[in-house]
Amino acid sequence: MSAAAAGDPAQGGIAHRVAVALYGAIVPGAQSSLYWPFLVLTVVLALALYVMRSGRGAKGADGRERPCTLREYLLPSAIYTHLSARVDIGLYLIDRAMMPVWGLAFLGAWAPFIERSTVGVLQRAFGAGPRLAVNVGWKLLFGLVTLLLVDMCFFFYHLMMHRTRIGWAIHKVHHSAEVLTPLTRSREHFLEAPIEAAATSFGLSLSGGIFAYVFGGAITQITVMNVGIFFFLYTLNGNFRHYHVSFRYPRWLEYWLQSPGMHHTHHSILRKHWDSNLGLVTSIWDRLFGTLYIAEPNEETPWGLPPEHQAQCRTLSQNLLAPFREIHAILRESRTGSLRPRRFGA
Ligand SMILES: [Zn+2]
Ligand SMILES: [Zn+2]
Repeated sequence: MSAAAAGDPAQGGIAHRVAVALYGAIVPGAQSSLYWPFLVLTVVLALALYVMRSGRGAKGADGRERPCTLREYLLPSAIYTHLSARVDIGLYLIDRAMMPVWGLAFLGAWAPFIERSTVGVLQRAFGAGPRLAVNVGWKLLFGLVTLLLVDMCFFFYHLMMHRTRIGWAIHKVHHSAEVLTPLTRSREHFLEAPIEAAATSFGLSLSGGIFAYVFGGAITQITVMNVGIFFFLYTLNGNFRHYHVSFRYPRWLEYWLQSPGMHHTHHSILRKHWDSNLGLVTSIWDRLFGTLYIAEPNEETPWGLPPEHQAQCRTLSQNLLAPFREIHAILRESRTGSLRPRRFGA
């Protein structure tokens, strides 16, 4: 994500650019994980893992690890020709088509509003900001605080999508992926993109507002390749969250940071893995809310939904229509007082 919160916070011009840049990061674009250098990096890292692990760590379409040739390790045909991977492409293209609508009509107003409100609340509470001088240390802190606030907002948005019936009706489209590819990151119903973007841009704008207040709007993040430095570090291996090769950290580190491989568990069909590892960057919130699951090194994580639900969310049109059908049913049930429990009707 790019530089944030410089200039006059009252004007909101920077915040607007932040919103657009943020949306570019959330919905694949020039600075997202699908930015070609990050994709090349994914392949290079996968190559390094192949050598270091003697060909182990790659999972098949059933989510089970298996030995394979180098070509199959990097680009397994069973995964990239799977219907699920093709549906990923369709959902990605629809997301891209909707981007101008959400980016301009919604986020262009939302992010500046949050930033201006944050500055306003701080001014009312503490008077004029101290206008501290900016140095590298403050810039680094700005990047870190932004990352942590976005991480927090992402967790609560994700928790809501898993723990509410309407949220799950929409978010289920992401979990109907039967195989994981970097494009699965964008496999979401078009109703979900603005919800996610609103939540994460709230964290971004909150941080932007706080630092704009303290530094008189004169601070920017340190960026690498036009991405905030800490987000850049996160993005380095972020594609492995939706890649069939499991990239895990040492167990002690996974108690603090989400390794990409922990997202394999999040996508698992197995009941013991449901609603686990909801975080984006840190594991802090998962620990606090009891949703952290650190799998054993070779634990199986078959991806997708239980069979009867998977059957309703397999093709592109099914994935596009299912949330509307389900929300309609939920609203009807709530009117008649026969609301069933959340998730899979279990
Ligand atoms: Zn999820
Ligand atoms: Zn995912």
